[in-house]
Amino acid sequence: MLGFERLRGDDRQPGTQVVVYKGLNRDVIDKNAKLIQQMYNEAVKEGRLQKGDTWSGKAMQPIRSKRGNVNHIFGADSTDAGTQTQTNLAGRKSVLRMLKFLKTIPGGENASIDRMMNETATRETFRIKGEITITVRDYQKGRKFEDALCYSFYPIDLHTKDGVVPKHLKRGVVPTIPRGALIPKGSRNLMVAGRCLSSDRYANSAARVQASCMGMGQAAACTAVLAAKSSVTPPRSSLD
Ligand SMILES: Cc1cc2nc3c(=O)[nH]c(=O)nc-3n(C[C@H](O)[C@H](O)[C@H](O)COP(=O)(O)OP(=O)(O)OC[C@H]3O[C@@H](n4cnc5c(N)ncnc54)[C@H](O)[C@@H]3O)c2cc1C
Repeated sequence: MLGFERLRGDDRQPGTQVVVYKGLNRDVIDKNAKLIQQMYNEAVKEGRLQKGDTWSGKAMQPIRSKRGNVNHIFGADSTDAGTQTQTNLAGRKSVLRMLKFLKTIPGGENASIDRMMNETATRETFRIKGEITITVRDYQKGRKFEDALCYSFYPIDLHTKDGVVPKHLKRGVVPTIPRGALIPKGSRNLMVAGRCLSSDRYANSAARVQASCMGMGQAAACTAVLAAKSSVTPPRSSLD
């Protein structure tokens, strides 16, 4: 709305419709795990299930998960109400396919939904083009920016159409988030905090997590208060 440049990849991480199922007879299911995987593969082949209905084709994932982060909704897009609605529809369709499948497996006859989130969540959204853009190299090397405001501690965690394989940080590496990554390039009196920070896709896949977002929120708020008290715009680098 303010006309500042934004970053967004052509390719984006899949979203997830968080859902937990109940009514599953775990003893029977565990005894039939191999058969259930075969049934799953068959259902995918026949189109009753689709790629993404589990993260990486493992039938047991939605059965065993207690948190319900079990599917990948490709093309998830929270740009506006229209795209979010499409994303929600895709998420609900995935859940319905899975529920129908679970009812066909041994031990799943009474399967139903225990709980699910009211919207399909999106992992990757717009990012600002900041005064500084954190690269994956900065992140993995644990670059100590001069204007670092907070830390981010999490593996590179880019979900793709084939699942996710987190790339862990080397022992002792704790990346920093610089103030410049929270300031839209060329702006005055404006800061952001959260996964919209200025970062490339891979760095963002790590810095997007909740603890990092909270750290950025506190840091941006403190910076804003100090800037307002001194009647200046938040400085773009430590040299300003
Ligand atoms: C399926 C899934 C699983 C995840 N698992 C984990 C995990 O296990 N651990 C972890 O740490 N992170 C996890 N994450 C990542 C993490 O939850 C998010 O990246 C993080 O919460 C983003 O925080 P944020 O403050 O940037 O954005 P959000 O939490 O999305 O906050 C943005 C807020 O702005 C509000 N908003 C939007 N537009 C407007 C408007 N116009 N006016 C007013 N308000 C508005 C929204 O309603 C929302 O409340 C997961 C993400 C997903 C999608």
